[in-house]
Amino acid sequence: MSSPVYDSSKPVLVTGATGYLAGWLVKRLLEEGFTVHAAVRDPDNAAKVAHLRALGDSHPGTLVLFRADLLEEGSYDAAMAGCGVVFHTASPFTSKYDDAQTGLVDPALNGTRNVLNSANRTDSVQRVVLTSSCAAIYGDNIDVAKAPGGQLTEAVWNTSSRLDHQAYSYSKTVAERAAWEIAEAQSRWRLVAVNPAFILGPGLAPAQTSESFNVMRQLGDGTMRPGAPPLEIGMVDVRDVAEAHMRAAFVPEANGRHIVFSEVHSFKDLADMLRPEFGEYPLPRREAPKWLIWLIGPLLSKNLSRPEIAASMGHRWAADNGKSKRELGMSYRPVDGAVREMFRQMVEAGVVKR
Ligand code: NAP
Repeated sequence: MSSPVYDSSKPVLVTGATGYLAGWLVKRLLEEGFTVHAAVRDPDNAAKVAHLRALGDSHPGTLVLFRADLLEEGSYDAAMAGCGVVFHTASPFTSKYDDAQTGLVDPALNGTRNVLNSANRTDSVQRVVLTSSCAAIYGDNIDVAKAPGGQLTEAVWNTSSRLDHQAYSYSKTVAERAAWEIAEAQSRWRLVAVNPAFILGPGLAPAQTSESFNVMRQLGDGTMRPGAPPLEIGMVDVRDVAEAHMRAAFVPEANGRHIVFSEVHSFKDLADMLRPEFGEYPLPRREAPKWLIWLIGPLLSKNLSRPEIAASMGHRWAADNGKSKRELGMSYRPVDGAVREMFRQMVEAGVVKR
């Protein structure tokens, strides 16, 4: 592996720049002196872009805001003009949707097509870094044991998710598949995918939409007090995910997909990490039995179905992050610091209340 080469002679585009992960990526790019074209849905929404403007003011690089929407064809053309690298991070990560097709799949899939079609029209683009997900690699935890060697690798694709079963994972899978199809039909720009597991750590914006914050809130506000769902997953510090994007873009030989995570934990592990500092919050002390979650889960969230609970809870999670270490030069920090920082930030912001 060679070291990343930060050639800041051309601007770079970050789609979904208001997002949780994107904030840290914009910060890293500005630190390296890049001109960052930050594409957001509404640049006039002062509250949503204030932290981006502040990052621009306090770092060597330059921030330029552009208006763009995943659902509007050609929407990213102006923001992409002259850019050497495109980071496509925008995609809804939420459990709060009324309709999985319009709320998740359309922006993920049509948005990816839209952004990559712009790349095809923009001669300056040499590389596109796609924020995919481990959700494009597997759908339910029960799939993990069926993977070769009993662990997920970059060669594995999610074949179990559908519009009515793990819809978010389905949205990420069809979007990444479409991205490879478009990339392979041309030869000017290279697609490099980053496939993070569950991202944790503090945010840079005062308000957050990412499901990562919703999960952390439910851990601390009493929702999980009777017992944490028996669910484990790979976890990774948001700053490591931003770093993986930098390396996917600027390590010359980076190619293909990259599983990105540090450690495997359950939700109860997260509560145990928080308890020494936040013991006065109603953190779960035990895991709830799977049958109980199966019974009450769908009553707590209309987007959590019994088949999803049956196929994911109580099944182990394992994946190989070796490619990201070997080919991107990643080293991962332990996640407990990120977990505490994130929770502390949410307590101070009044998002988690006792
Ligand atoms: P987030 O903070 O909610 O970011 C999502 C971004 O997508 C926001 O900037 C949002 O813009 C933008 N977006 C949504 N719909 C859009 C539309 N129609 N047009 C333009 N922009 C739109 O979530 P995140 O956790 O940072 O997720 C960022 C990326 O990481 C996503 O691709 C997600 O799938 C991926 N990922 C996340 C995790 C995780 O654990 N968090 C793990 C693996 C992969 P607004 O601010 O205007 O809503």
